[in-house]
Amino acid sequence: MNAPVPPPAVRTTCPYCGVGCGLTAKPDGRGGAEIAGDPSHPANFGRVCSKGSALGETLGLGGRLLHPMVRQPGGALARVDWSAALDRVADGFHRIIARDGPEAVAFYLSGQLLTEDYYIANKLMKGFIGSANVDTNSRLCMASSVAGHCRAFGADTVPGTYGDLDEADLIVLVGSNAAWCHPVLFQRMVANKRARAAGIVVIDPRRTATAEEADLVLAIAPGMDTALFCGLLVHLAETGALDDAYISAHTKGFAAALARAREIAPDLATTAAVTSLAQAEVARFFDLFATTRRVVTCFSQGVNQSAQGTDKVNAIINCHLATGRIGRPGTGPFSLTGQPNAMGGREVGGLANQLAAHMGFTPADVDRVRRFWNAPRIVQREGLKAVAMFDAIARGEIKALWVMATNPAVSLPRAGAVRAALKQLDLFVVSENVLANDTVDAGAHVLLPAAAWGEKDGTVTNSERRISRQRAFLPLPGKAMPDWWIVCEVAKRMGFADAFSFPSAAAIFREHAALSAFENEEDRDFDLGGIADLSEAQYAALDPVQWPVPSSFEGGRQPPPQRLTGNEAVRLPTLPAAPPGSSPGCAGGGESAAQRFGPDFQDDGNRRFFAAGGFFTSDRKARFIAPAAPALKAAVNNQFPLRLNTGRVRDQWHTMTRSGTSPRLSAHCPEPFVALHPADAATANLVDGGFAIVATRYGACVLKVVFDRDQQPGSLFVPIHWSDATASAARVCDLVMADTDPFSGQPEAKATPAAVAPVAFRFRGFAVTRATAELPPGTWWARVALAGGAGLLLATNDEPPVWRTRANDLFGPGVELAEYVDEPSHVYRVAAFADGRLEGCLFVGPAEAAPPWDAVKASFAAGTLAPHARRMLLSGRSAQGLVEAGPLVCTCFGVGLKAIRDAIATRATANVEDIGRALKAGTNCGSCLPELKRIVNERAATV
Ligand code: SF4
Repeated sequence: MNAPVPPPAVRTTCPYCGVGCGLTAKPDGRGGAEIAGDPSHPANFGRVCSKGSALGETLGLGGRLLHPMVRQPGGALARVDWSAALDRVADGFHRIIARDGPEAVAFYLSGQLLTEDYYIANKLMKGFIGSANVDTNSRLCMASSVAGHCRAFGADTVPGTYGDLDEADLIVLVGSNAAWCHPVLFQRMVANKRARAAGIVVIDPRRTATAEEADLVLAIAPGMDTALFCGLLVHLAETGALDDAYISAHTKGFAAALARAREIAPDLATTAAVTSLAQAEVARFFDLFATTRRVVTCFSQGVNQSAQGTDKVNAIINCHLATGRIGRPGTGPFSLTGQPNAMGGREVGGLANQLAAHMGFTPADVDRVRRFWNAPRIVQREGLKAVAMFDAIARGEIKALWVMATNPAVSLPRAGAVRAALKQLDLFVVSENVLANDTVDAGAHVLLPAAAWGEKDGTVTNSERRISRQRAFLPLPGKAMPDWWIVCEVAKRMGFADAFSFPSAAAIFREHAALSAFENEEDRDFDLGGIADLSEAQYAALDPVQWPVPSSFEGGRQPPPQRLTGNEAVRLPTLPAAPPGSSPGCAGGGESAAQRFGPDFQDDGNRRFFAAGGFFTSDRKARFIAPAAPALKAAVNNQFPLRLNTGRVRDQWHTMTRSGTSPRLSAHCPEPFVALHPADAATANLVDGGFAIVATRYGACVLKVVFDRDQQPGSLFVPIHWSDATASAARVCDLVMADTDPFSGQPEAKATPAAVAPVAFRFRGFAVTRATAELPPGTWWARVALAGGAGLLLATNDEPPVWRTRANDLFGPGVELAEYVDEPSHVYRVAAFADGRLEGCLFVGPAEAAPPWDAVKASFAAGTLAPHARRMLLSGRSAQGLVEAGPLVCTCFGVGLKAIRDAIATRATANVEDIGRALKAGTNCGSCLPELKRIVNERAATV
């Protein structure tokens, strides 16, 4: 008998960050898949980070929403068939629009949607419902970069490519912890540093893992990036470092921008004073920038998530325009997008201030899109941006909301107020993967089961404008359907069948691409005309391609696919191939590719903009922008003397609905925490490893305390990931103010005035259970994914005897309990067995001697224990001699901090390579290398 043929590996794209790594997924036939980096993908060349490499652990169906559900009069959700659910949505929207007008309804979308999903939702709302109340969680991510690009370039154009990070001689990272948030791209920067001695400068109020590879770290005062780059512009002007020819030929507004820069940061001393940096540090940065020809400045959430984010972006762009360092290899301002398809959302017009395909609300654009869509009701003006949209819901002006693939009850500023607003909606629809999260629990009336990563099929665009396919490699579970199908079905029921009868994602992509090319003579950067006619098979096999792909490029059309099976890729011909005199693209009729993209444009698949000007303004010139003087709007005061900064941890993604299901990823930072400088901790009487309440005007969280000398005094750092589903009191966006940038509408997430105070718990412990367990009110807890079940880390003031009475409830009926009780020492430990299998454990003891749980987790994963291991279980020690590893550092090989410190302590000359040889830590994905370096350096400083 022949052996079964293993299913082929499918080429797809990572669903997490905006790096957009290519992956291969090999289904195991049991609902799982083996995930690896795709060596042929130009974003990552086979590399993946800890999150990407753990994707295989996140494919289970536990907690999935698998059926449409509608809330019943009594408040419970009940399964319905698709027809009933879609009718309810369509009828509800129809009724509210008829009664209150199209402005009374809204969609809130997500950078996790595929481009095809995004396109359809945007088309329905803006073209056919006639409202622009479509916004997206990308508003919280990179809206300031969009606004900055549009102000400077006349379009939301990212000029450069990842290849520039290989070719730069200086990489400046501003407000970006790329080591944790864009790990594969960061390793690419580090590779350039190793291979070509490229310099790395990190500008961030917080010293993060990214700083471990920096040649210069500027721990700038919060919010003062604009001042630093104004000071740099002045320095460039005064040291003869300007590219006068570029400024004169391709830009406008330089004199006014320089004059404003001189008001804000006239000299080195003032720049240093305003930014709270040492003059020598500032001088070194200025000199490095001025004297290095190939400079890329990467910026991310530290720049964008600010009430002055757009001005920060433009202050950075000003310096690149002034030196002509844009569009040439190894140069340019570079926005690192947070989400996997933030860029795709921008392409379709998923933001409320965009229309579609990089067109806005000018009469000409509106008319063009109206004719293309045949949409007589097309909206004429911008809609409400995210914060304003939820304010309008709170005021009762928006009465129907459809949330797709995001969790605004956790992630929006003043999240508590958002949750209250959601409860007022007449119709609240949620398209989701999961059965429960904070947004669903805020009272959704209709739940629509959407296909998840691995099941859905479409395209995403990464930070360098590269469109890649996300391919399905698992069947649709239950009744789940793709988001585009769901929206189309609602649109048909609302009477728009002619415009929404798409048979496939490929058909939607073709229309999206055709719109981008429609009457696109020379005024729009975004142009996919060259791939607007893909057949189904060609779309299925599409290789990653960077836009623009105008139809004028010879070879921009797809050749016939050579193989149409599986995921064999059809390679797009590389650019440029436009012969002189070819038909016009987005930057000038009859130009060659080199003319359009500049003399350094290379046939390396890297499509850069603006080396030779050709901006998308009316006169083709870029605009220097004179920024406002930087100032943090909300002042600290006696009540709230600190500044709350929010961000991410290395191994989690957004609100953890996917990454939080991976046991490996959950071991890195298992508890929600607040990091602060020991001096601030001392002032507040906090204890390292204890607990604190962090409060602002808007709310409070109770978090584990982490002393961190890399925090600036006066600042707190709290990760964004935990929600009410994963922790008792750690939804940090409840605490964040809703001040927004005047141009982008992006909220300030980095500087809310806050206070911190100790919280005492007398006892700590943990529970491990096979099924999801709840702990009584008053208990502090954090949920942690474990192999074979779930863990709860807990803190409590309830005495151990009280916990003894709860053991049966925790593990359910039919178990036998084995207990260890030490009343004088306040220790209670219990293990539950059923048919010899370990079903769970509960350990509670004094807070100052919190019980370790590594050995119990290992026994729990094993399930059935040998007699010796069973006897050892309640001691908390391992029968196999495993030692407590401490906080996880290397996710790939499960290496903890304690093991690394022990290894270093036994070696006189330990370095990162030694650690790799001894423990394998850092030898796979490389995401932990900056932490390893920090641990080595800390050790070196103490000997
Ligand atoms: Fe995914 Fe990591 Fe690549 Fe980001 S860097 S796309 S999270 S594998």
